Amino acid sequence: MIKKFKRVLVANRGEIAIRVFRACTELGIRSVAIYSNEDKYSLFRTKADESYLIGEHKGPIQAYLDIDEIISLAIKKGVDAIHPGYGFLSENPEFSQKCEENGIVFVGPTHVMMDRLGDKIKSKLLAKEVGVPTIPGVEKPIRTDAEAKVFAEHCGYPVMLKAAAGGGGRGMRIVNDQEELLPSFHSARNEAKSAFGIDDIFIEKYLKQPKHIEVQILGDNYGNIVHLHERDCSIQRRHQKLIEYAPALCLSQEKREAICQDALKIAQSVNYRSAGTVEFLVDADDNHYFIEMNPRIQVEHTVTEMVTGYDLVQSQLLIAQGYPLDSSQVGIPSQSAIVPRGYAIQCRVTTEDPSNNFAPSVGTIDAYRTGSGFGIRLDGAEGFTTAKINPYYDSLLVKVTASSRTFEDTIRKATRSLKELTVRGVKTNVGFLINVLNHEKFHQGACDTGFINNHPEIFD
Ligand code: ADP
Repeated sequence: MIKKFKRVLVANRGEIAIRVFRACTELGIRSVAIYSNEDKYSLFRTKADESYLIGEHKGPIQAYLDIDEIISLAIKKGVDAIHPGYGFLSENPEFSQKCEENGIVFVGPTHVMMDRLGDKIKSKLLAKEVGVPTIPGVEKPIRTDAEAKVFAEHCGYPVMLKAAAGGGGRGMRIVNDQEELLPSFHSARNEAKSAFGIDDIFIEKYLKQPKHIEVQILGDNYGNIVHLHERDCSIQRRHQKLIEYAPALCLSQEKREAICQDALKIAQSVNYRSAGTVEFLVDADDNHYFIEMNPRIQVEHTVTEMVTGYDLVQSQLLIAQGYPLDSSQVGIPSQSAIVPRGYAIQCRVTTEDPSNNFAPSVGTIDAYRTGSGFGIRLDGAEGFTTAKINPYYDSLLVKVTASSRTFEDTIRKATRSLKELTVRGVKTNVGFLINVLNHEKFHQGACDTGFINNHPEIFD
C-alpha cells in the first residue's frame, strides 16, 4: 500500500538534515526542521520549508534527544513521517516504536529490527546463527574483573574491549597484556555508561591492522533486499572514519561477492527494511569478519550514490511511503540492475586542528571558498562567511566527494577540490587529508586501519 507523504520532519541537524530536506524537495514533499537554541543561527534550519525550536532549555544535545517533544511537535504540525538522519535518535528503537504508535512513519527499520541489530553482542550472535564469520571472542557482557581476566586469556592478547551499545569509536580499548586489562576495562565501562547509558562491555580478539569494508543494504516493506556493493573505510583516526571510497581496491571479485552475500544474509535474517550498512573487518590473510550493522543512513553513503547512481535518501523516503524496490520510483528491478561504475572518494573536512592533536577549532568563519566543478560533490552545512562554529556538535564542516572513471583521476579531483577550499577563521584538517590522498599506499588502495598511526609523515 502506498501512503504518499506531504510533510516529513527531520529529527537531526547540520549536513545530514540538509541532505534529507533536498531529497524531500526533489520528491515534492514539504520539509520540516527542528533546531535547538544553540542552532538558532545555523544554516540547516533555513534550508527547510518550516523550522521549529525544540528543547529550549534542554541544552544543545538533549534538545535533539527528547522523543516525546519531537513526536508531539510532529503531531501538532501534521507530519506524515520522521527521518532520523544519523547519530542522535537514529538507532533508538523506542523512537521508531513511538513514531509508529502515534501514526507517524519512521523512515528506517522497525524497533524490532533495530533491537536485534543495534547491540553489538546481539548482532554478533545473529551473524553466527546465519553462518557469517565473526571475530573470535566472548559474546556476552563481562560483569566482573575476574570474568574480564578469564575471558581475555581465553581470547589471547592482544584483545579489544568493546561497548555493546558502542558507536563513534567510543567505549573501545585495545589491551596488549594482562597489566593493561583492568584499568582499560574500568575506563571503557565508564565511557560506555556516560556515552550510551549502558555499560555492557565484551571482549574479542584484536585484529592487527585489518581493513574496514562495509556493504550498503536497501530493503523495502515487502521483504525484498539488495546490496549496493561495498565501501572501503579503512582510513580512520581513533577508530573514526576520515576518508571512504568505493569500490574497495583490495578485494578480489570472489572476496567482494562473498562479503556482499554475507551482508545480505544478515539483513535477510531480520527482514531488514530501509537503508542500512553491514560492517566487516578483513585481516591480512583475507579472512572477513562481521562486526556490526548500522540500521540507518551513514555519513559515507555519498560514495555509494556516486558509483551506483541510486539516491539512497530518496530511496529511503520512497520505501517508507510503501514503494517496492522494483517500482519505477525506486528503480531496482533486481540485484543485477545495480552495477557500480567508476570510483568515488569522500573526504571528511572537519574544523579540527591537526597541529593540536585534532582538537576542535571553534570561532567565526571569515572566508569560505569551495572547489566544485566536474566530478565534485559537496555536502555541508555551516560553510559560509560569518558562520559560527560552536563546540557543541560534531566538527564535520563539509564532505568532499570526488568521482571519476579511474581511481587515479578520482584522487586528482579530490585533491584539486581540497586545494581550492579556503577556510579562514577556524582550523581545518584539509592539509592532512591531502597528505593521505597523495600517499603511495592510498593510491594502491592498500591502507589498513593502522595507516594513520603508522605513517607520521602525513601529519607534516
Ligand atoms: P563503532 O561502532 O564505535 O564505530 P566498530 O565496531 O564499527 O565501532 O569499529 C570501529 C573500528 O574499530 C573498526 O573499523 C576497526 O578499525 C576497529 N576495530 C573494531 N573491532 C576491532 C577488532 N576486533 N580488531 C581490530 N580493530 C577493530
